[in-house]
Amino acid sequence: MKIRIPVVLLLAASLCAPAAHALKLNFDVDKLKEVTGKFKMLKEPSEADEIEIGKGVAANLLGAAPPVNDPALQAYVNRIGQWVAMHSERPDLPWHFAVLDTNGVNAFATPGGYVFITRGMLLRMRDEAELAGVLAHEVSHVVEKHALKTMRKGALAGLAGDALSSYAEKKGKEEFTKIVSAGTEIYARGLDKEDEFAADRAGVVIAARAGYDPYGLPSVLQTLASINPQDDAVALMFKTHPDSGTRLELVSNSMEGQIDQFMDYPRVESRFSSMIKSHIAGYKPVQK
Ligand SMILES: [Zn+2]
Repeated sequence: MKIRIPVVLLLAASLCAPAAHALKLNFDVDKLKEVTGKFKMLKEPSEADEIEIGKGVAANLLGAAPPVNDPALQAYVNRIGQWVAMHSERPDLPWHFAVLDTNGVNAFATPGGYVFITRGMLLRMRDEAELAGVLAHEVSHVVEKHALKTMRKGALAGLAGDALSSYAEKKGKEEFTKIVSAGTEIYARGLDKEDEFAADRAGVVIAARAGYDPYGLPSVLQTLASINPQDDAVALMFKTHPDSGTRLELVSNSMEGQIDQFMDYPRVESRFSSMIKSHIAGYKPVQK
């Protein structure tokens, strides 16, 4: 199975090439030097800091939407998530997976390995390969440190980057609070478009390594593309992610010519639907 992966990656890499050629070299060189210098000065947080920051941001996000009160369902999603993460480039992070009690259709991850998927998203899925695909997309964001990178870039716009740098040196409480609140902000604004596309490409590779039909993630993107964008349930996800149709097209292109290899990879439909039917379909959210 491992022999196939570089092919997918190669295809993905070749996809990016034309964009670089199309780039117009029209910028102020001095300004660029100043900005890159500042960016380089920011110290990269250690893995322990990364986990600590991610935990703080996760706690904030859980304050907005608590986990579904169903241990069996949480254990199921955790098992799939851990299995998927084990096939990523950072299997040793302390990974956590949780289903959030909201109708909103969404999934996201904070630095250090905290991955969340909503009840609304699970209800629109058809099988375990789709779940594994979405979790693998989130795992890729963590592996590639996309949220941390966005926070560091925030320094250029005067956000939390300086705090991030001084936290890495001094571990100050004030800096930590600043980082966590700026980090939480990212989940309302979204990551870079390119990071989303990259997480789609890497997500299908991780799902395949974990033994799932890698077309699970593209199937979810197809479902998302068919949802009316006026639907409140998708408002936040559509605001923070590139267009689902474009994502589907790009990830499908990166997988082109690979279909035969994945023909026998399972979708695991029955285990998934019996879990969802017994634990989510009849689930009544706690009235507030
Ligand atoms: Zn994403």
